[in-house]
Amino acid sequence: MVVVSSFKKRKYESSEIKVPVTTLSQISADAEKANTPPNPKPDVNESEAHCTTKTNMRPAYISPRKPYKAKGSRSNRCDVCYMGIEYCICQQRKTAEATVEFWLIMHKEEVNKPTNTGRLIEHVLPENTRKFMWSRTEPEQSLIDVLCNAKYQPYIIFPDDREGYEHRLVTTPDLSSNKIPAYIILDGSWRQASRMFRLSQYLQNIPVLPIKSQSESTYKLRKAPNEGNLCTVEVAIAVLQMSQEQQAAETLAQYFDVFNIQYAKSRRNIKV
Ligand SMILES: [Zn+2]
Repeated sequence: MVVVSSFKKRKYESSEIKVPVTTLSQISADAEKANTPPNPKPDVNESEAHCTTKTNMRPAYISPRKPYKAKGSRSNRCDVCYMGIEYCICQQRKTAEATVEFWLIMHKEEVNKPTNTGRLIEHVLPENTRKFMWSRTEPEQSLIDVLCNAKYQPYIIFPDDREGYEHRLVTTPDLSSNKIPAYIILDGSWRQASRMFRLSQYLQNIPVLPIKSQSESTYKLRKAPNEGNLCTVEVAIAVLQMSQEQQAAETLAQYFDVFNIQYAKSRRNIKV
């Protein structure tokens, strides 16, 4: 019995290191980015209002649970866009530049989902997007580093319809400051994002920027419980518009259109 259980454990550990990231070129690009952040030695300023977390935290703990298997994950998908191979949208992707950053804090169950739209932000704005895996108590050190870096002004994108953080609400980002606006998007289901917002102590002092949708979400793949809620990429498009980054907003919106059209086709199994 002991032998069987230890074998199972080894097998299980090996399945955990299946990283859902994509092509070799992307991996090396990610690695290069990780090694050469915009500010390699963060200018830590403990007096910053948002920076209350000690920097000696351990790296994110990987929960020893079975990896999430998205519906349809066995099908033949593109490693980059996660669409079915015949519906791949990679050829239609254009990149853009912006003077703001997006920091996606991802719930672990979101990483492999083909319906995850945070991936679109990363692909269109590769130089302006950072991704972190969410942990309630042990956030990645790289996240703590950027949160504590006085070069950035982080804002957490979250609705203003709940109580307890009224004093943190802002209506617009401060674009006149010489700091780089960094928009934190909690990338998960609405329930997961709410939990991430509430339970992450290291996010508790960051200004909250609610994004009001001007129109109904065009994203029909996953239902939001509240009318007016936008999916992750729609939030980013709205934030780019608010930040006067029209070109980037349009490029991202166009790619989201392509994603929506192709995804709808794939769901109906329409040959392209
Ligand atoms: Zn693709």
